[in-house]
Amino acid sequence: MSRGPRLKSVDLQIDARWIAPVVPAKVLEHHSLIVDKGRIIDLCPTARARLQYQAKQHHQLGESIVTPGFINLHNHAAMTLMRGVGSDLPLQQWLEDAIWPMENAQVSYEMVSLGARWSIAEMLTGGTTTFSDMYFYPDAVAEAALEMGLRCQLATPIIDFPTAWATDAADGISKTLALHDQYKHHSRVTIALGPHAPYTVSDETFTKLRTLADQLNLRIQCHVQETQSEVDDAIKAGGERPLQRLHRLGLLGPDFQAVHVVALNDDDIALLAETNSTAVTCPDSNLKLASGLARTRDLLAAGVNLCIGTDGAASNNDQDLLSEARNATLLAKGGSGDATAMTLQQTLQVMTLNGARALGLDDEIGSLEIGKAADMVAINLSDPFLKPLTDPLAAVFYTARACVDQVWIDGRLKAEQGRPAGVDVNALARDVQRMRKTMEKS
Ligand SMILES: [Zn+2]
Repeated sequence: MSRGPRLKSVDLQIDARWIAPVVPAKVLEHHSLIVDKGRIIDLCPTARARLQYQAKQHHQLGESIVTPGFINLHNHAAMTLMRGVGSDLPLQQWLEDAIWPMENAQVSYEMVSLGARWSIAEMLTGGTTTFSDMYFYPDAVAEAALEMGLRCQLATPIIDFPTAWATDAADGISKTLALHDQYKHHSRVTIALGPHAPYTVSDETFTKLRTLADQLNLRIQCHVQETQSEVDDAIKAGGERPLQRLHRLGLLGPDFQAVHVVALNDDDIALLAETNSTAVTCPDSNLKLASGLARTRDLLAAGVNLCIGTDGAASNNDQDLLSEARNATLLAKGGSGDATAMTLQQTLQVMTLNGARALGLDDEIGSLEIGKAADMVAINLSDPFLKPLTDPLAAVFYTARACVDQVWIDGRLKAEQGRPAGVDVNALARDVQRMRKTMEKS
């Protein structure tokens, strides 16, 4: 007498109407993701999964699309506490009159800790599973990320003048090295170097950072050419465009992440491409501060590793990578006059696999391939006004009716029905409101 095939016991099975694994760059229908011990062990038709696996947790999602977890490559998480400060001011005035005075008076470990938690809760709600942060007290952000289970790259702020966190660049560097030591064995926290911008960091400091990055295998993230006036001022002061200067100093390379890169000429784009540097676009922040439109079509066409970030909530005002990606896609097209400038699959790759490459984590995350960590987002497409629905990625990126439902990191459910699991959002919101009142009083 023959017995039926034994079902393999696994931790998690997710059946979805659609799955977009990024690699391969297509949308699979009626497939299942099989996860065991935090890793993807199979991606197969649901009909086959039923015959092979017995899952401890089984999600049958229906009208949803599952994608890799989103990677927000530029943020100042704690600035969620400054949401709405200095609305409608131009960039320099916004920084000098609104943001910097509040930061100088208010930034503390406690503030960063609360602001980071608030940002992480919102990022999770929007499907972000990995983020990069650049802010004072990065140890507070690391603790918040570890507690809430996200992956992060912490680009420690290195600036030549005193800040709430460090007295000067040398102090910032020594604190960075201590943090690197503290977190080097944590799989979810990576320490990187975060020189603020070419106009706040000297040649000498940049040279030191390059040496350190090489010695310790650290990545470098820097705001670069955010506005045309930044470029004009740099040329007036030193005869070089900021990217030319960074290249002369040896900064550009596969470990370098250039944020904003709005004011680019053809030579700048060629330089980023030749050096295999990463470019990070933050369209909402650039739009709100009227900095301009990044040439994302040309960056992609040149083969630059293009990623996306929300920037801090003071200039955005949200932490929603999906709406950021929607705007990036439309702006790539509208800004270039080319409807093929960023395809739906490219948009998805920009917010997943390209981010993983920038962080050096593309063997671990960024696509739903067998062997990778099970960082996944389920986006609900059941809104009736999405019908007729034949192209799920178009529904995700060209409408505001697609909504993030479940989020998993390492195969663990971290958000459901668009709310972070195990986080009292209302209590956090009350703390945030109270903290903001205190910040405004002094
Ligand atoms: Zn920024």
